[in-house]
Amino acid sequence: MNINRLLFQKMDENTTNSTYNGIITTSYHNSHSFINNISVVVNIGGLQSTPGAAHFLEHMKFWYNNTNLYDTMNKLQTVLNATTSEFTTDFSLCCTKNQITISINHLLKSLYNHTFSIDIFEKEKKVIINEIKGYDLLISDKEQLNFIRKIIGRIPEVKSLTIEELSKLSIKNYQKNNTHIYIYGDMSIDNEESTSNNYNNGVLHIPIKFIDKECTISGKNIEIIIKVLYLTFCGDFNFTYHGRYIKTNQAYRKLSKIHFDNDDYLIFKNNSFKRVVDLLEDPNSALRFLEFFKIQKGDFSRFYDCMSNSLKLETLLDNLITEVN
Ligand SMILES: [Zn+2]
Repeated sequence: MNINRLLFQKMDENTTNSTYNGIITTSYHNSHSFINNISVVVNIGGLQSTPGAAHFLEHMKFWYNNTNLYDTMNKLQTVLNATTSEFTTDFSLCCTKNQITISINHLLKSLYNHTFSIDIFEKEKKVIINEIKGYDLLISDKEQLNFIRKIIGRIPEVKSLTIEELSKLSIKNYQKNNTHIYIYGDMSIDNEESTSNNYNNGVLHIPIKFIDKECTISGKNIEIIIKVLYLTFCGDFNFTYHGRYIKTNQAYRKLSKIHFDNDDYLIFKNNSFKRVVDLLEDPNSALRFLEFFKIQKGDFSRFYDCMSNSLKLETLLDNLITEVN
């Protein structure tokens, strides 16, 4: 593959910022995809409400008019999944090009429904209590278990949640302006007007958790991408996006400074370009990448240009070394 500016320009052409039924949407077109991967992200997570409440709501959203959403999606041959993390609840869909609009519409109808049946509420309460018992039995890692408990709650906390509380929480959080849709694939969806530049002007602050320390890196989204790639380059880090922060599975080691007059710079540059290209090839990592770094049309070319400007890059990386130390 020839990695040059044209390739990044092409990636920008594949990126669309739009709205779908009034919901901000970011999509990435890949004509080689047989299926579409969709992620509908609602900004409510386990750490923002009573422990267990956001996760309970996630369960309730699988019901609409006493019909389970899995069954509805099964009939459409769409795969549906959901996870509640610290700050978000993600509903993901996997479907063919023809089913994309109908699948999203079914999901959205269910997400924006705030009236729940008491029978289903009691039924899901039992399901969740069993889920908690299961985690208690299966997970021996204390840290991991504590984290899960913060999200899904403990048995007494879940028992004391009421249907009114969930309904209130739903009305407050399950709203169009608190939702973002990400789509990856060979799609055909009736996007509405472009809404570029409506959420990506500011500086992002991303906490990074190393095993033994924590720090925050700041900058515009493409600057954050470059900083994270640099950490990977210098320290052999393997990072994962985790809610709103990046978690590395290695302890922090010395951040060495690139010498812009030797091969390090070229290696870093080429590795970074290749990494971003690779990320965009895989639907799941691409969706995560678009979501985490709030990617907009134009960002890929901006990224290429920033990486190619050694003076600008040097300043950026000096700034990172200060932030991490
Ligand atoms: Zn669950």
